[in-house]
Amino acid sequence: MTKVGVVGGGIAGLTAAIALAKRGYDVTLIHAGIKKTNSYLAQAGIALSILKGDSPKAHVLDTIKAGRYLNDEEVVWNVIGKASEAYTFLMRLGLEFEDNEIEGGHSFPRVFTIKNETGKHMTNILYVRAKELGVNFVQGIAEALAVRDKRAYGVFLEGELMKFDATILASGGYTALFKYTAGSELNLGTLIGDAIMKGAPARDLEFVQFHPTGFMGKDGVKLVSEAVRGAGAKLITEDGERFVNELEPRDVVARAIYRQLQSGKKVFLDATGIEDFKGRFPQIYAFLKKEGVDPEKDPIPVFPIAHYSIGGVSVDLWYRTEIEGLYAIGEAASNGFHGANRLASNSLLECIVSGLEVVRTICRDRPRIRKLPELHYFARDAGDIEFLKDVLWRYAGIVRDGKGLRDGLRRLENIEVDERIRKLAEGILKNALSREESRGTHFRQDYPYMRKEFERPLFWS
Ligand SMILES: Cc1cc2nc3c(=O)[nH]c(=O)nc-3n(C[C@H](O)[C@H](O)[C@H](O)COP(=O)(O)OP(=O)(O)OC[C@H]3O[C@@H](n4cnc5c(N)ncnc54)[C@H](O)[C@@H]3O)c2cc1C
Repeated sequence: MTKVGVVGGGIAGLTAAIALAKRGYDVTLIHAGIKKTNSYLAQAGIALSILKGDSPKAHVLDTIKAGRYLNDEEVVWNVIGKASEAYTFLMRLGLEFEDNEIEGGHSFPRVFTIKNETGKHMTNILYVRAKELGVNFVQGIAEALAVRDKRAYGVFLEGELMKFDATILASGGYTALFKYTAGSELNLGTLIGDAIMKGAPARDLEFVQFHPTGFMGKDGVKLVSEAVRGAGAKLITEDGERFVNELEPRDVVARAIYRQLQSGKKVFLDATGIEDFKGRFPQIYAFLKKEGVDPEKDPIPVFPIAHYSIGGVSVDLWYRTEIEGLYAIGEAASNGFHGANRLASNSLLECIVSGLEVVRTICRDRPRIRKLPELHYFARDAGDIEFLKDVLWRYAGIVRDGKGLRDGLRRLENIEVDERIRKLAEGILKNALSREESRGTHFRQDYPYMRKEFERPLFWS
């Protein structure tokens, strides 16, 4: 029986595991805790253009507009065209959505949501189904990909080889490489760096989406959803002055807040005008109250945080990487779906579609290991990650420029860190340096405009 290994227990990995198990594959899913994924934290929902009055074309146009025309059109059509299949897949699992909302950049209320905790409900139901289907769950960190001569043979876990005919990288993105993020601390992109070093190029690494309204709590950063601004909350400085239209795209709002903070001012989200905040946003209300902020009475202190990595291991339309037998899906992968900026709630759609699609690809490719070559494993320590996070936040953060990016690269040379993480960080800085323009999430103050000659993806190997 063909053995497939899935690395990562988020929505992409769980979806692929279910689809594989249904087709009779022997599936092992290696995860570091299902609740420790970004999928589990997803709040708003999943964008599906399947309602009356909506159309895939409208969704495609919204996606390309948000992506600032860097999207791969064929990929966009392919993913969005499979919304109906994704919806049916979720319905068959018994998932029930509560509502459809509109989010920034969407021309239609096509975001399917459950109590602002969509990711939690989706993850739970996928996990239960995968268990029922006999997926073998192994808790732990896959330390390295087992690759020789651009052929994947599985992964190393606790120094031992776990042999797979096909390996699916579903290990999420690399937002945890930036100092502030509300996402999982585990999303360092180590295996993305590993894949790059072993022969699978990455792409679009310079595009990191920053969410405007993070909140620094006692036990880490939390997210105050965009929906709060949508409901009428205003952004103000400590002097009570408004400085931006709150409904502008995320990158515009994030930069406006960043500039206020750089000038030494504090920034607050004033939600006191929202009627029944507690009833409308119960989870946000609960965590803020716990932190001593009553959003019905007090302005909420906020700052921008790293939220989503658009770049990842470069895959084709069918989620194959350049390494034979190695596939990548979800946030770990990149094939031009998001362009230079992700349209809100498109990532959960991508997770389901890529998870289902990659299984069809594996069925067609029929990867099979006949003879195992000698494979070497080297134990590595992550190293001084905190210093690296500081460097990326400072030099490859919300506002960039050539001098800063070159400084960042120089500093990177002296950080003692896992070589694979260094390779990935170098790719982020170098791609950002090469992209001498501003587009979507990538803002260069020395090149503040979009330039036609950069309307193409940048690869990193
Ligand atoms: C706070 C927050 C809110 C969001 N809200 C939305 C939303 O409303 N709608 C939307 O579309 N998107 C949203 N997103 C983005 C979305 O949640 C993610 O893009 C998506 O869930 C990624 O899913 P994934 O399966 O690719 O990876 P993840 O969910 O990140 O799961 C992958 C997991 O793999 C594990 N892992 C990593 N390396 C290894 C290893 N070597 N071995 C074993 N395990 C490993 C880690 O635990 C990692 O978290 C949000 C993100 C955040 C942080």
